[in-house]
Amino acid sequence: MTPRLRLQPEALGVGMTSQRVRDRLIERLRDDGIVDERVLNAIRTVPRHLFVDEALATRAYENTALPIGHGQTISQPWVVARMTEVLLETAMPQKVLEIGTGSGYQAAILAALGVEVHTVERIGELLRIARKRFRSLGLNVRSKHDDGRIGWTENGPFDGIIVTAAAPALVDALTAQLAPGGVLVAPVGGSGGQTLVRLRRLADDTIERTDLAPVSFVPLLSGVLG
Ligand code: SAH
Repeated sequence: MTPRLRLQPEALGVGMTSQRVRDRLIERLRDDGIVDERVLNAIRTVPRHLFVDEALATRAYENTALPIGHGQTISQPWVVARMTEVLLETAMPQKVLEIGTGSGYQAAILAALGVEVHTVERIGELLRIARKRFRSLGLNVRSKHDDGRIGWTENGPFDGIIVTAAAPALVDALTAQLAPGGVLVAPVGGSGGQTLVRLRRLADDTIERTDLAPVSFVPLLSGVLG
C-alpha cells in the first residue's frame, strides 16, 4: 500500500522527534502485543508530533495520551494501534467513519493505510486545526462539524466505525450504519471504567459483540461547540 502522505522537512523531525525515537515507540507497541505490521508501519510514518501543541512535541512518541485543549486528549498510541488493528482484522476496510476527530491523528493513521476516512467532531476549533493538519500532510479525509452520535447516514454504510470517546452504552444509530461484514470498535462505560468493545455485523445481519480490553477515554458528549 502506498502511504498517502506528503512529508514536509519539519515532519521528519529532529532530536526528540527523530526516527530513532519513533522506532522506540514501535518496539514498545510490539512488546505490548501489537502485531499488525501495516498498523505499526502507519504509526512509524505519521508524524505524531505534528498533532500536538509544539510545547508537547518532545513527548509525542511516548506511549501516553496528551492534552489537545478544550479538556480533550490525543489517544495513547497503543490504543490507536489496537483499535486500528481491530478494524483491519478480517479485511482492509474501504470506508471508515470516525467519531471524535480530536487532533486528527487517528484519522491520519487510517488515511495513511489507504482507507477512505469520514470523521466527525463536535468542537469546531479542534476540527479546524485537524483540517489544517490533513491539508499540510496531503491526507484526503472527509470531515464534518456535528454531534457524531447521529453518525453520517448520507455517506454510509461504513465497513468500519471507530468511536474515540466513551459512552455508557453503544449508540444504536452508529451500529445501524455498519455495512454487512463491517466492524465497529468503541469504548463503552462511564468514568468508573470502560471496556473496548468490538461489534461485527455478520452475514445473517446479526450483531456479534466481543469485549476486548480495559481502556480510558474522554466522554462522548451531546451537542456541538463552535
Ligand atoms: N481520535 C482523536 C481522539 C480525540 S479525544 C485523536 O486521534 O486525537 C475524543 C474527541 O471526541 C474529542 O475531540 C471530543 O471533542 C470528541 N467528541 C466527544 N463527543 C463527541 C460527539 N458526540 N461527536 C463528535 N465528537 C465528539
